Amino acid sequence: MEIKFKSFGAAREVTGSCHMLDCDGHKVLIDCGMFQGKRIPSEEKNRIFQFDPAEVESAILTHAHCDHSCRLPYLVMKGFRGNIYATPATRDIAGLIMADTAHIQQKDAEWLSKKKGATIFDPLFGIKDVLNCLNSFVTISYGRKFHISDSLGCTFYNAGHILGSSTLLLDCPGNIRIGFSGDLGRHGTPIIHDPEYLPPLDYFVCEATYGDKLHDPIEDACRQLADAIRETVNKGGKLIIPAFAVERTQDIIYYLHLLLDQRKIPKIEIFVDSPMAFNATSIFRVHQECYDEKVHEQFIVQNKNPFGFENLHYTTNVNESKKINEYKEPCIIISSSGMCEAGRILHHLRNNIEDPRNTILIVGYMAEDTLGRRLVEREPEVKIFGQPYKLRAKVKILNTFSAHADYKDIMDFVAHLDLERLKRVYLIHGEDDALEGMKTRLLGMGVKDVQVVEPMKEYIVTNSAS
Ligand SMILES: [Zn+2]
Repeated sequence: MEIKFKSFGAAREVTGSCHMLDCDGHKVLIDCGMFQGKRIPSEEKNRIFQFDPAEVESAILTHAHCDHSCRLPYLVMKGFRGNIYATPATRDIAGLIMADTAHIQQKDAEWLSKKKGATIFDPLFGIKDVLNCLNSFVTISYGRKFHISDSLGCTFYNAGHILGSSTLLLDCPGNIRIGFSGDLGRHGTPIIHDPEYLPPLDYFVCEATYGDKLHDPIEDACRQLADAIRETVNKGGKLIIPAFAVERTQDIIYYLHLLLDQRKIPKIEIFVDSPMAFNATSIFRVHQECYDEKVHEQFIVQNKNPFGFENLHYTTNVNESKKINEYKEPCIIISSSGMCEAGRILHHLRNNIEDPRNTILIVGYMAEDTLGRRLVEREPEVKIFGQPYKLRAKVKILNTFSAHADYKDIMDFVAHLDLERLKRVYLIHGEDDALEGMKTRLLGMGVKDVQVVEPMKEYIVTNSAS
């Protein structure tokens, strides 16, 4: 009996999550995400599977983020015929994210085809391929053990990262228990459950995205948001919030609802201007099983919708979106894309960036070479739709909203495992500094053995930890 494990992505990097567990010849893929970052190397990596998709018996999806899910349609196109196991909420959100990715790829290809000398990549998959892929999903709720093969069982535990996210408990042959984190979340985040601890394990494959960082406490998020709103309203300005359509937008709406109920912010109009955010919020509304007790107490028992209230408006068509520009009173505009690279947020920034009464509130990570990053760095002039604009609005950054565990959260998670039984922790999903930092910390707290997983290297796990 041999259990082998290999990472094809997100080993010594943070995107392209893709790991294979081979249990006595039964191959199971855990996540199949896209490589992101610089276009040409990522596009090339996305097109190649370093294994034969037809040989993979089943796949498990830990959560819907693109870097974990968005090569699944391509996997099916390349011959994968098995089941894709996920929680119901993960399936629904993944459907939305995969469809959006198909759309973005299509737009990118059209745009590049007009640019002289650009390397054009055909979209990896289209919307039909997404629908095909969704037909392969089998959904299982948290805590319900299911069998992938005669000898391999799996149970989803709540990862507390985004709606539907899970950590896997894998019951392997020979009584070997392996835990597998997709992305781990934080305690105290709004809406979704806190991360659930796993039972005693022999091996734990753990993400370490923030293995060398600490986040600001989540409890400060609501207060900082209220401060920014009051300050902007007092100046007679507008608050522009670029936010990812999934999770971050719903977190902000949820907090705004609480702040309004508690009369901590003035009653101003709030516009959520993003069709995808509207669709994502509809999925959040349906999956109440993923909410924590606090949401039930604050909203559900009183029959209140956490994502709907009197002065909150979702705009789904372009005309409604344009009308927001004509609104002259102080207001809040939440729009995507999160990094200000495309979408309706660009129109709102263009119309509001030169007015010093306004505030641009940054609530998410801004990668290098994005307009979002240029705003964070407060460049005096930025280009939007090719035109220069003076940055006169205030830029305020809130670092409290991360959905990822920091190193203290990961240490706390591991501390709740049985360290006597735990033979080894394998670290994935991190840059080198984060991985090495996490390794040192875990060894320091008494974990017997920690290995940073190398890409494409085969690891054999047994009961004797050889
Ligand atoms: Zn994630």
